[in-house]
Amino acid sequence: MGRKRTVVVVEDEDAIRRAVLDALRITGYEVIEAADGAAGLEAARRAGVDLVLLDLLLPKMDGFTVLEQLRVSHPALPVIILTARGSEDDRVRGLKIGADDYVVKPFSARELLARVEAVLRRSPERPTPVVRIVAGEVAVDCARREVIRPDGERVALSEMEADILQRLAAHAGRAVSREELLSAVWGLKDGTVETRAIDMHITRLRQKLSNGQNGADIEWIVTVRGKGYMLGTDLQLTKEES
Ligand code: CA
Repeated sequence: MGRKRTVVVVEDEDAIRRAVLDALRITGYEVIEAADGAAGLEAARRAGVDLVLLDLLLPKMDGFTVLEQLRVSHPALPVIILTARGSEDDRVRGLKIGADDYVVKPFSARELLARVEAVLRRSPERPTPVVRIVAGEVAVDCARREVIRPDGERVALSEMEADILQRLAAHAGRAVSREELLSAVWGLKDGTVETRAIDMHITRLRQKLSNGQNGADIEWIVTVRGKGYMLGTDLQLTKEES
C-alpha cells in the first residue's frame, strides 16, 4: 500500500477534533491537527499533505477563507469540509470555492472515513517528493533543508528557499514562472508581493548552492528568459521510497 497518507484536521471543537484524529490514526493515517483557521492553512500547505478536513466556523480565519487561500497555492489538494446540519448554503458555497466533498455534523467515524477514502481514491497520486538533490560534490537534503558541501559543511536553507527548490524539482525539465513560484510558495494572489522578491530568493539560493571555490560550478537554477526558472539539467534527483 506504500507510504502512509497524511490528513490535516482543522477543527476548533476539541472533542470533535480528537475523535476525528483517533479514527484516522486507528485506520493508519498520519495526522496533523490545527484548532484555528490560520494554523490550519499553514498545516495544509506543508509538504506531504494528502487531504484536509476543514471545519467552516473557526477562530482567526474562517474555513471559507482557508479554502480560498489554499486553492491559490494548492489547486488540486483534496479538501472535505465539515458543515453543520441544515446549513445548505454553506455546503454549496464550500463546493463552489473548491471543496471536493462535505460531511454533515454530527457524523460517525465510519461515515467520515468512507468519505476520506472516496476522495483520496479519485484524486491522482501526488508526485513523490524529491528528498535529495545532488550536483557534483554538493548535495541538498530537502527534508532537513540543508546544503551539504564537499567538505561536510552544512548550510541551512530558509523555508522559502527550500520551497522554491522543491517546486523547481517537482517540475524538473520545464521552466516555472515567477508567478507560479510566488503563488505556490507564498500562496498569495498577484499584487501583494512583487515577483522581484522571487529573484532575490533565487540569488541567495544560488549563493548557498554554489560550491564557492571556482567558477566551474554546475548550474543549479537556470534562468529561462521570458519564462522563469528551471532546475539545472545536470542534477541528480532522489525521491522518497514508497
Ligand atoms: Ca467550529
